[in-house]
Amino acid sequence: MSDARIRGVAAQSARAAEDVTGWLAAAGGPLRVDVPGIDDARVRIVTTLLHGNEPSGVRALHRWLRARPRPATRMVAFVLSVEAALGPPPFAQRARRGARDLNRCFGGAADADAESALAAELLRQVRELEPEAVVDIHNTSARGPAYAVVTRDDPARRALTTQFASRMVVTDLRLGALIEALEDEVPAVVIECGGASDPDADSVALAGLERLASAPAIVSGPVTVLHHPRRVELDPGARLAYAAGPGGNADVTLDADIGRHNFGPAPAGTRLGWLGPRGLAPIRVRAGDGRELRDELLETSGGELRLRRDTQLLMATADVAIATSDCLFYAIPIDAGGEP
Ligand SMILES: [Zn+2]
Repeated sequence: MSDARIRGVAAQSARAAEDVTGWLAAAGGPLRVDVPGIDDARVRIVTTLLHGNEPSGVRALHRWLRARPRPATRMVAFVLSVEAALGPPPFAQRARRGARDLNRCFGGAADADAESALAAELLRQVRELEPEAVVDIHNTSARGPAYAVVTRDDPARRALTTQFASRMVVTDLRLGALIEALEDEVPAVVIECGGASDPDADSVALAGLERLASAPAIVSGPVTVLHHPRRVELDPGARLAYAAGPGGNADVTLDADIGRHNFGPAPAGTRLGWLGPRGLAPIRVRAGDGRELRDELLETSGGELRLRRDTQLLMATADVAIATSDCLFYAIPIDAGGEP
């Protein structure tokens, strides 16, 4: 078990390392960078690489630091799952091998494991800084447009969102994520920049970071707000496959190209895949208030898995490991009036 140390590194360490993996390798573990601002009494925080296979945030940070920035406020950046990110291969593992997902460890006991201890140490340092904003930069596994995830809809969170994206998803699901732990203390948002291997996502992260850092006041642009995603999960032990058609022996076979529906929206009747002999039984659809909403969202006919109603899908991925260990996708039903 590694300890929960977050190593402070100088901003010039990013200039000494030409590529981002070299910079991370030199740090060797979780790191923190402090950059003085024009108004040094105010602090904005960026966290990234909570998931080791989501590199856009740390790539943006590395490039931003190499440009010798002079931000409007003091900026403090935390880069967390460095060990997982270094691989090999780099940026392929979500968490350290055999360890829990760090961004599910912000709700429980600090001494449960190394991930909980690191989560607790990050929270301690964030609170000590008394920041005016926290932005946690992630990638999705499939391609798709950038969006924010927040636990509350308020002007401060809308303004943070629009430094990076024009869509904001307000979630009432509780997973043990960083933004949940901070929600009563500071406007905290997750930015999903787009697909982890998509160069556009790196550009979204860098442009957003530059806006966030340079603005004396964070002002909101136009934003589309989506409420209450449902989390679509597979029962533990159920077999999942991705294919272009039926015929396998999995319990659930999702369309290998399901990611194309992300932020579709996908109309009622859209086929998402095919079901085994147990039908819909291995699938759970969980709302933030704990209700089971599978039969409201999904239906089966002729062995096909279909949407029962018009829906926005989020984070649909063809990565079996992520889909089975985390969730298949998120779904936001769209009402008859067109408002999600
Ligand atoms: Zn993530």
